[in-house]
Amino acid sequence: MLKAKETASTRVDDGTRTERVGVCPLCGSTQLGSILDIKERCLGTGDIFTVVQCDSCALFRTDPRPVKEEIDRYYPDDYGPYQPSAGTKTPWLRPGFKGLIRRLTLTAHYGYQLAEIEGVMGQLIRVLTSPLRGRYVSFPRLFPGGRLLEIGCATGERLALLRDLGWEVQGVEINRQACDLARSQFGLNIFCGELEELRLPDASIDAVVMSHVIEHAYDPIAILREANRVLRPGGLVLMETPNARSLERYIFGPWWFNWEIPRHLFLFESRTLELCCKMAGLQIKNVAYSSYTFDWNRSLAYWCEDRGWNGVAEWLRSRPRVLTWVFRPLGKGLGWMKATGRMTVVGVRR
Ligand SMILES: [Zn+2]
Repeated sequence: MLKAKETASTRVDDGTRTERVGVCPLCGSTQLGSILDIKERCLGTGDIFTVVQCDSCALFRTDPRPVKEEIDRYYPDDYGPYQPSAGTKTPWLRPGFKGLIRRLTLTAHYGYQLAEIEGVMGQLIRVLTSPLRGRYVSFPRLFPGGRLLEIGCATGERLALLRDLGWEVQGVEINRQACDLARSQFGLNIFCGELEELRLPDASIDAVVMSHVIEHAYDPIAILREANRVLRPGGLVLMETPNARSLERYIFGPWWFNWEIPRHLFLFESRTLELCCKMAGLQIKNVAYSSYTFDWNRSLAYWCEDRGWNGVAEWLRSRPRVLTWVFRPLGKGLGWMKATGRMTVVGVRR
């Protein structure tokens, strides 16, 4: 495990106002378990923020954290998710063998209409693709005329793909630049503002998706409660988020890419996210672990940067093919052991 040479308590020198959280929002405990001092790398100020783990329920929180009115400064104009897209993710279903497998699997097992699957041949395809059933967990099962809400949809790439696949979609996004891009690039219906201002009717949505959003929220349980309210009984909520119980977190320690403080205000393991869901009235249906390993490159790059090895850090971020080959089997193995750095949690409204 990599360890920091020295520790310090939260130190923010640029005048950002911070607030203490003090009490775990999940279990109410004030007892602290491990405490980590993490360097701010979003803007490169070198400020230090403290991340504490609740001794009782294991939820990680950034504490102190910037007050909500000042968090915008950590989302500069060049923040990755708010940049124009290279295109919709429809190439995900591109022609060729991989695209064909995806289309057949989504049609056979997820309710999408992307291929003709009928008769004996259809039965055979269902059987042959059944081992892949759990693979596309970030795609909710499509209902005819199904309505889907994406919370924190950024520039709308994923929402546009889901619309192209057959959903009737609505997005909510807090960042004005991202909203404008989602509308101009994809012609999407986006509400620019906070989720609670959207005021959707009760039980009006079939699926809610959130991709790397819940860890940025000041009140994750409130978001889940609102998701639960707008979902019809049996409706699904799909959340992708970093996995705080991953091998990467243990190995890289303060250099783990997904601390991403102070944008990340909470970090979850499946157990703590399951507790949040329960408090919001949702039941966990499934947790899937991604085999994504590029965060290993990014975490290693942070470690190198702190040693002045900037050339190596740059090389790591250029996605060198040799590392992809090395990490790929590792990602598969760790995914199987539920120890990769990203997970998708699927909840259902009871
Ligand atoms: Zn707690």
